[in-house]
Amino acid sequence: MVLEMRSQENSLLKISDLRVDYKSYWYFYHVLNGISLNLKQGEKVGLIGESGSGKTTLLKSILGILPPQGKIVSGDIIFRGINLTKTNNNILKEIRRKSIGMIFQDPLSALNPVFTIKEQLFEILKWSSEYKKQLNEESLKEAAYKLLTEVSLPEPDRILESYPFQLSGGMRQRVMIAMALASARELLLADEPTTNLDVTIQDQILKLINNLINEKKLSLILVSHALGMISKMTDRTYVIYGGDIMEEAPTKKLFKEPLHPYTKLLIESVPRLYGKGIGEGIKGNPPDYRNPPTGCRFHLRCPFASEICRKKKPELISIENRKVSCHLYTEN
Ligand code: SF4
Repeated sequence: MVLEMRSQENSLLKISDLRVDYKSYWYFYHVLNGISLNLKQGEKVGLIGESGSGKTTLLKSILGILPPQGKIVSGDIIFRGINLTKTNNNILKEIRRKSIGMIFQDPLSALNPVFTIKEQLFEILKWSSEYKKQLNEESLKEAAYKLLTEVSLPEPDRILESYPFQLSGGMRQRVMIAMALASARELLLADEPTTNLDVTIQDQILKLINNLINEKKLSLILVSHALGMISKMTDRTYVIYGGDIMEEAPTKKLFKEPLHPYTKLLIESVPRLYGKGIGEGIKGNPPDYRNPPTGCRFHLRCPFASEICRKKKPELISIENRKVSCHLYTEN
């Protein structure tokens, strides 16, 4: 089977120059502007940036679940040697069922309100199982119990018979994680997995995800506004702004010595309990994707912008073991 193909240098996922547009009745929105990203087997990568910077679009492009108005215009997404932008639908489905799982931002809208958890979880288990639909009720129940126990959900019988609205936010998120784990045998995509939860539950969910990916030796792409979460859980971080990668570095290094002006402002705007208190935030608004700024997409908000920034898009250049896309670091 094609899924057995191996790619070079233990690279699990390699995204090159990915461009994605959305089309509305009147406009084209040029959202991803040539994103490149690499993920090795077993690696945990963070993706940070303001709302609307393209993080969720990137995850949905990997899974091939962009909404109908979204379209991959160009670029490649190579997963274990298979180009997901060019492969057929059957292979894509197979990968979604057995290799890549996703935890969505809002479990209440990701779970179907008119089906019980049992119906939804069993359906995923049937398709993610080697035996496909041949699994009987008993073995499905056994597999569901195992998953619910893994995500620390008590009373599995009650959970299975419940509809999503009958569970608390934390429980729904644990169910989502269980469903993602059913198909994530290699890669877990987590899109703001704790956004709608209160602080104490957030911490539990994060620990749970962290333990599970370590136990199961999964690779991870974690999208989050919570920079503390990214710094604790990931090896490497990509900073995305306006659909462009601004900087990529080992996570510790990125937070300690950010290079890109946007990364610096983003880190400075995190509220702190002690010391600086609440930061000023980044002045201005994210770009209008209908008519994005020329050159560096950050130039309208950047305190260091110069003439070249308005005209020419900076390349992503390597500096030691990190990369940055900014004219301050190029010889122009
Ligand atoms: Fe600022 Fe120019 Fe660097 Fe963009 S390229 S971040 S506008 S200095």
